[in-house]
Amino acid sequence: MIIQPKTRGFICTTAHPEGCAKQVTRQIDYAKGKPSIEGPKNVLVIGASTGYGLASRIVSSFAAGANTIGVYFDKAAEGSRTASAGWYNSAAFEEAAAAAGLKSYSIVGDAFSDEIKAKTIDLIRTELGKVDLVVYSVASPRRTHPKTGETFASVIKPLGATYTNKTVNFHSGEVTQATIEPATEDELRQTIAVMGGEDWQMWIDELRGAGVLAEGATTVSYSYIGPEITHAVYREGTIGAAKNDLEATARRLNDQLGANGGRAYVSVNKALVTQSSSAIPVVPLYISALYKVMKEQGIHEGCIEQMYRLFSERLYVSGETPVDEKGLIRIDDWEMRPDIQAEVAKRWADLTTENVFELSDLEGYRREFFQLFGFETDGVDYEADVDPEVSILNQR
Ligand code: NAD
Repeated sequence: MIIQPKTRGFICTTAHPEGCAKQVTRQIDYAKGKPSIEGPKNVLVIGASTGYGLASRIVSSFAAGANTIGVYFDKAAEGSRTASAGWYNSAAFEEAAAAAGLKSYSIVGDAFSDEIKAKTIDLIRTELGKVDLVVYSVASPRRTHPKTGETFASVIKPLGATYTNKTVNFHSGEVTQATIEPATEDELRQTIAVMGGEDWQMWIDELRGAGVLAEGATTVSYSYIGPEITHAVYREGTIGAAKNDLEATARRLNDQLGANGGRAYVSVNKALVTQSSSAIPVVPLYISALYKVMKEQGIHEGCIEQMYRLFSERLYVSGETPVDEKGLIRIDDWEMRPDIQAEVAKRWADLTTENVFELSDLEGYRREFFQLFGFETDGVDYEADVDPEVSILNQR
């Protein structure tokens, strides 16, 4: 089958197996090319197939030499439908991990469910014994609560007041004003239930209860703060409230694990093109402006560079992990540098449809968006016939 991108807004409904594999290989090569990390040995990554979770898994395996279990929600190819990008990414990851002689397993299913937690615990027990790092990197629009059966939907909305700011259609380059009405109390509650810390806490409780969390284990989840211009819709909106809940969960987990020498952190990461961030209004235009400025300064990073720095300069350093006054790891430090933010803000004020390709790196954004699905990747012949059916080694 000849696979071309098919987009609907910020969603791409097709993915290319060879392009995804090349993107994964590029990240693996990056991790292998860096000094190795004296880090975790057995790692569970929940939300492991794309974005920050995938990069965390790659750094664990190819920079720290760890065995990994990846849990993710992705679909295999069926009929004329390709598999999802995370499926192809994970197939490529599993193959590379096996070739490197690392133990590596995939569990495909709903991480929010009791069933997937139980299955993961069994697998840890039989194959790894215990895990010493748990990365929680799930980003989802929905969650069904395992105990009550209620299905929650998350929304990205401001709280209290209507928010209006610039946004871009990253396919056409048209800059318009986005207006978002404030969330209701119920939308806020549901967003916290999806993207807050409850499920992370449940995972750690169950892993501990089952005796498969090593003494002194570390757990980390990811958050975002970002610039003033997105605060009303992100940090002070529904998602920000969910992130506050996630951060409170980290403090609680840190107290609970601390009794055995363990640690729990939230790492605040840089804004990057992922399937999740492309869905947030305003953010793609901000990311385009940010990319332009950070590339000009020679400090641009993608998921793999961010995660390598998180592991090597924050989580696995001799001595204390550096955190800010709220106890958060700040790997968004370069994004938030005052000179970078001042330059982005200056450009933001001037951005229009006419100058968006000069003032921002919208072209880079657009290309990275397609690369998430394995398109626009060098060395892939997109006119060639490819088999969309790819199996994942070691899937349990
Ligand atoms: P992503 O969409 O690339 O990855 C999400 C992962 O979650 C995928 O592996 C997906 O399969 C998995 N997933 C979704 N629903 C699932 C389910 N029900 N069961 C199992 N797995 C499921 O997202 P991302 O951008 O890498 O985000 C990961 C975390 O990083 C989030 O907490 C996000 O808020 C945070 N973060 C993202 C950015 C950014 O700019 N992208 C910046 C800072 C922090």
